[in-house]
Amino acid sequence: MKFYVLEREDAEIAAEREKLERERQLHIREIKRVQHEDDSIFNKHTIQKNDRYVLLTLLGKGGFSEVWRAYDLDSYRTVACKIHRVNKQWGDHKKASYVKHAIREKDIHKTLEHPNIVKMYELLTIDQDTFCTVLEYCDGNDLDHYLKQHGCLTEKETRLVIGQVVDALRYLGERQSPVIHYDLKPANILLQSGCRKFEVKITDFGLSKQMETSDDCDSIELTSQGAGTYWYLPPETFKDISVKISTKVDVWSVGVICYQCIYGKRPFGHDQTQQRILNEGTILKATVVNFPPKPTVSQIAQDFIRKCLQYEPSNRADVLELSRHDFIKSVSRRIVQQPASPSSRTMRDDLDH
Ligand code: ATP
Ligand code: MG
Repeated sequence: MKFYVLEREDAEIAAEREKLERERQLHIREIKRVQHEDDSIFNKHTIQKNDRYVLLTLLGKGGFSEVWRAYDLDSYRTVACKIHRVNKQWGDHKKASYVKHAIREKDIHKTLEHPNIVKMYELLTIDQDTFCTVLEYCDGNDLDHYLKQHGCLTEKETRLVIGQVVDALRYLGERQSPVIHYDLKPANILLQSGCRKFEVKITDFGLSKQMETSDDCDSIELTSQGAGTYWYLPPETFKDISVKISTKVDVWSVGVICYQCIYGKRPFGHDQTQQRILNEGTILKATVVNFPPKPTVSQIAQDFIRKCLQYEPSNRADVLELSRHDFIKSVSRRIVQQPASPSSRTMRDDLDH
């Protein structure tokens, strides 16, 4: 009897510990955000171009950009302003590479029209070294934040999230020039609060690549080796730089995210730093995915994850196959294919001047 009481107390303490650890992670994230906001040269809440956008709070700071919640005084709505800035201290090579990536990001993003992809409204040139993309604002934080807060999702919630991500990937893959996102991870999946719980939109096309044709067998040369977040990238991206990659890179990432949503941890290198993953070749050795005994997960969900986490791209499901998998089949498919909006012309004009 006493033994059972102790066991229960142990479990309670472990649960409390886990909850406190999650709170700690969220505090660390918030401290970093405030520090970045204080250090930002844009933190004086200045109004950009024609006094139209008022910067309010810093939402996130990535490697090379800052994303601010802002208010659009023309259309009376909240937007997100992603500010890209060349650092004057960088060498010419780094500057050129940064500009190339930033321009590719906005070129790809501005043509995308899908309910599960953050919309890009406008592009502003702020000065010679700075430009800003104005994006649809998602008010529910990102999935990384959600997972830090709650640990994991139920299988049903996971299906909702993953179904929408796969919808967006299917749209990206069915374009005349298919797009590989290449940086799919919880921090790049944004949540929208509102009546429909777990409405998600993918964002951050900073590492994405456009393929030339929609031929299924087509693949492009890997140009971003060493970029991205290693927990979510497939083995082929750690191989020789001349290796060919395809939209199946994103399929692997979907498998990792799905696993993490359900089990609360990543399948490969969960406790390892980025450097250790690289040094130890963790993902290069990721040939088999193991499922923990708890929580209990359906065979369908496990099969879905297994199909995504096939080591060889040739054995891995493609996006279309994935979208037809029983695990997500029932989640609504709302593919909207529209030509580039007229506003994209303005953007190009803007950047050319
Ligand atoms: P990283 O290098 O970390 O990938 P990044 O500089 O490429 O970041 P994003 O990923 O586009 O920038 O945005 C960084 C963070 O800002 C996101 O993780 C998200 O929390 C927040 N964010 C970005 N866009 C939006 C948006 N449209 N609405 C709300 N929040 C956003
Ligand atoms: Mg990002």
